[in-house]
Parts: sequence; structure tokens; C-alpha cells
Amino acid sequence: MKASEDQVVEDAAAYQDDDVRIKPSCYNMADIKKLKSVGICTVKGIQMTTRRAMCNIKGLSEAKVEKIKEAAGKMLVRGAFTGVNSLFCLLTLQVFHITTGSLEFDKLLGGGVESMAITEAFGEFRTGKTQISHTLCVTAQLPGENGYSGGKVIFIDTENTFRPDRLRDIAERFNVDQDAVLDNVLYARAYTSEHQMELLDFVAAKFHEEGGVFKLLIIDSIMALFRVDFSGRGELAERQQKLAQMLSRLQKISEEYNVAVFVTNQMTADPGAGMTFQADPKKPIGGHILAHASTTRISLRKGRGEMRIAKIFDSPDMPENEATFAITAGGVTDAKE
Ligand code: ATP
Ligand code: MG
Repeated sequence: MKASEDQVVEDAAAYQDDDVRIKPSCYNMADIKKLKSVGICTVKGIQMTTRRAMCNIKGLSEAKVEKIKEAAGKMLVRGAFTGVNSLFCLLTLQVFHITTGSLEFDKLLGGGVESMAITEAFGEFRTGKTQISHTLCVTAQLPGENGYSGGKVIFIDTENTFRPDRLRDIAERFNVDQDAVLDNVLYARAYTSEHQMELLDFVAAKFHEEGGVFKLLIIDSIMALFRVDFSGRGELAERQQKLAQMLSRLQKISEEYNVAVFVTNQMTADPGAGMTFQADPKKPIGGHILAHASTTRISLRKGRGEMRIAKIFDSPDMPENEATFAITAGGVTDAKE
């Protein structure tokens, strides 16, 4: 039941809705690939698959599956076309990308940090997780492609490493008003994992109150407080349960308010790695709960000097490409050759 790529492209090209021609740039290719990877290539295919089975596809949350099903229902009523790409045109018209500040890094991510999704960046200390977070605070506010207007940001800081002065430097690089940039970033310090969860109520209320104004939510770092609050082996199950609740909340927030969620994560030695021939025995913490919840996982490592290398980690639908970028006073930039 594999629809040929040509057919899918044709279906998409044929689609017109109230004289609005849907541009290919509105596809959420990642989701389409996810469905295709398990053989779902048409709207009919979606109808023939249970919600439960679709939820088992890595990277598809319950909320997203619900939206896909709903859109698929509407599409069949129209009855005009059955290409899954067209479906996603409808579904993801609103999806936008926030630039990282580096074109090469953006390319790796399919255009930048995506809305309606959770993007996780993990790596050892000083690999640039916090610097990327700071850069995104500014770039989320810049107008971009496809009518993206830029908007406000909420930054949840668990490690006390947020520095407003860094935002000023980055704003200067992008030639935007420094005070305005700072005004558009709501900052909250989380002190416990419980507090971190409570802050999400505030986040959702804010996003609701000022509909469409916020574009990005950052949590730097997602796991640090969980690590402190649940330290013993015996507490692991509870930790993962609480973490799952938080991530499901984040996923819902990202989709309901069409914002990008960017989280950072730390790494730990993998006790099982000694048994295998793995080149890098370290892995991100959070286990399969975090692995499953993150739409895109980026692994970061140090290069020479200010150079950093980003790699798509463990993705079923993206090639394992790498991108080199640099950390400068003005934030994340392309690496100079
Ligand atoms: P951790 O795990 O400790 O939180 P991290 O991955 O968040 O680490 P960052 O703080 O993002 O790491 O990155 C630190 C790096 O950014 C350092 O190597 C530092 O040299 C660089 N850096 C920080 N501020 C500047 C600046 N103003 N100009 C240039 N480089 C900077
Ligand atoms: Mg940091």
C-alpha cells in the first residue's frame, strides 16, 4: 500500500482550498515520514489504523493522533484526494520553524526548531545547550519565512544559568532593540521538579491569555531537578511517572498553542555500554519516556575552540547527519571555515 512519491506530490499539488494554494513548505515532513515508515500512506490508511496503534509510532503523541484522525475524517468527507501529504497540509499549515542562528544547524533540523513539537538538545557540559537556548530567545522574536511574525518566549530555568546580558549581546547581533527583546522573554526559575510542573499551569494560562503571541517555551534543563528530587534506585519508577506527566503536558501545550518547545538534557554513563562496542558510552538521561516524547533529539559535542557539532540522534525518519556551528558573543552562528 505504498503510494508512489509522484502520486503523493501530485495529490498535494492538486489541492486547493478556497483559492488558497497550499505551499509545499507547510508540510510537516517528519510526521508524514513517521506514518509512511509503518506503511500508512493514505487517508484511508489512517482510517484503517486504530488510535492505539498510531500512538505506538515513535514521536506521535495521543493529541497529535487525535488531530490526524480528525483531519482524516474531514478529508474523506470532501472525498477529493487521498494523499497523506495533502492531509498534513491541512494539519500543519500553522507549523513554523525558529532559526538557531546557524544555517547549517537549521538545515539539519529541517528549517529550525519546529512548533507543535518538542525538540531536545543534550550533551556534556559546555556543549552549548544554554547558549542555544539564549539564542532562540532572540530569534523566536524575529520575523521569518512563510509569514512567521515572531513572538514572545517563556524561559524556565532550573540551573540558574539564564543571563539577560547574553540576550542583549545576541539582540545586538540581530540588530533588534535590546530592551524590547528582554521585555518579550518571561523568565521563571524552577526550584523543584514539582515546581517545574506547577509552572506549566502558569505557562498554559499565559499562552491562553495572550493567544498567538507566544512562539517558544524553553526548559533548561528538563531533567536536572528530577535528578535531584528522585535520587535513589527505588525512586526511579516514580521519577519516570512524573516525567511522563510533564512531557505529556508539554506536548499538549505545544500543539494547543502552536508553540515550539525546546528542552535541554544532560548525559550519564551508560552502565550497559561496557558490554557492547558503542563508541560513546554516554547517553541522555530520562530513559525511553523522554526518548519517546521528544519529536527531535539533538546530540551535541565539542569541536575545536568555539566549534560545536550537532547530530540528529536516534531518529527513525531522519538521516544521521551532522552540522557544525559556532558559539560567539552574538550567540549561535555558522562555523567559519
Ligand atoms: P552545562 O551542561 O554546564 O549547562 P551547556 O551545554 O549549557 O553546559 P553552555 O553554557 O551553553 O553549555 O556553553 C558554554 C560555552 O559557551 C562555553 O564554551 C563558552 O565559551 C561559550 N560562551 C558563553 N558565553 C559566551 C560569549 N559571551 N561569547 C562566546 N562564547 C561564549
Ligand atoms: Mg547549561
